[in-house]
Amino acid sequence: MGVLGMVAPPQWGGLGLDWVSLALVQERLAQHAYFVGSIVNRVVGFGLMTMLRNGSAAQQQLWIPPLVQGTGVMALALTEGHAGSDAGAVETRAIPDVAGWRLRGRKIWISDADQAMALLVVARTDPDRRGSRGLSMFIVPRASEGLSMTPLPKVGNNAMPSWDIGFDDVLVPQDALLGPLNEGFSVLGSTLHYSRASLATTCVGSAQAVVNLCLAHLRDRHQFGRALSEFQVLRHRVADMQMRVDQARWIVRHLAWLIATGQPCALEASQAKVIATETLQALSNDAMQMFASQGYSAESDVQRIWRDARLYTFGEGTNEVQRDLIARHLGL
Ligand SMILES: Cc1cc2nc3c(=O)[nH]c(=O)nc-3n(C[C@H](O)[C@H](O)[C@H](O)COP(=O)(O)OP(=O)(O)OC[C@H]3O[C@@H](n4cnc5c(N)ncnc54)[C@H](O)[C@@H]3O)c2cc1C
Repeated sequence: MGVLGMVAPPQWGGLGLDWVSLALVQERLAQHAYFVGSIVNRVVGFGLMTMLRNGSAAQQQLWIPPLVQGTGVMALALTEGHAGSDAGAVETRAIPDVAGWRLRGRKIWISDADQAMALLVVARTDPDRRGSRGLSMFIVPRASEGLSMTPLPKVGNNAMPSWDIGFDDVLVPQDALLGPLNEGFSVLGSTLHYSRASLATTCVGSAQAVVNLCLAHLRDRHQFGRALSEFQVLRHRVADMQMRVDQARWIVRHLAWLIATGQPCALEASQAKVIATETLQALSNDAMQMFASQGYSAESDVQRIWRDARLYTFGEGTNEVQRDLIARHLGL
């Protein structure tokens, strides 16, 4: 349907639409299946925007068409055992070699790595510089020799497998470097607001799905000879839930508009990420209470959304770190 190319310029086979249009479509996709919305996040919010903003002409030629056509995804390989929120603690090395670069190290919790056509790997290129300085980004094709992957069992989001990855002298050519040398953090930072907008949009869609499930349940389920919808405490709870979804929706749409009109939006991206992820998490918890035993059944949609939602307040930059960024914008 062209969804993955909605915001790609026509020269890449895209529809050349803006982020408000994408937000409308992505929210609706996520309302029916969170996972479908999250594919848009990973392909567009992350892969496509990173390549559009940072790729060389040759890299764009090679990697953008499959993203737009929906035949390939890219995985971000940043997190390591000792480098979570403190991403500047990355230890994976990229060592210069006559043939290009040799990557050595381990990454953990990398989504979709095994299915990806390529991994965008953050590695240390200057061992004498500490923290976020001296890190670079590399495009590492999945088929590269020396890559090993082990799946990680987890609580939810099972449609997005997570991988522990070993880089055992993985050789990539010189032109695998994405963006300037030692500027891997700037490359990453240049697209964060896209992936946060995309994640937040997906959460709004899923939160609306939760409310819709609750409305149907309140009408269908009877206790004490009455539909649950007749109990005021439950009517008010679902009214509160819808208000929270709408609040999240409007900050997310505002962010999409800021992106569409080319305005600065780092603050709003962090705000939208926190508000939307916490809305979905709180609502999935409320829904579990409202569905009670029916929600706790392994076959219910409520339990799946509840398990999945637990991730988003700490995935893609924890909400504590987002609040810290927001405080910085406030001058603290
Ligand atoms: C299912 C799943 C998928 C993932 N996918 C990917 C992926 O595709 N690519 C990738 O690179 N990574 C991925 N991650 C990793 C994810 O981005 C990290 O889990 C996240 O960045 C947090 O790091 P951490 O888990 O090491 O927590 P930690 O950094 O150890 O944090 C633990 C707690 O301490 C808090 N904390 C830490 N530092 C501070 C501070 N300075 N101030 C206040 N509080 C702080 C955190 O907010 C958190 O509550 C994934 C993780 C999961 C679980």
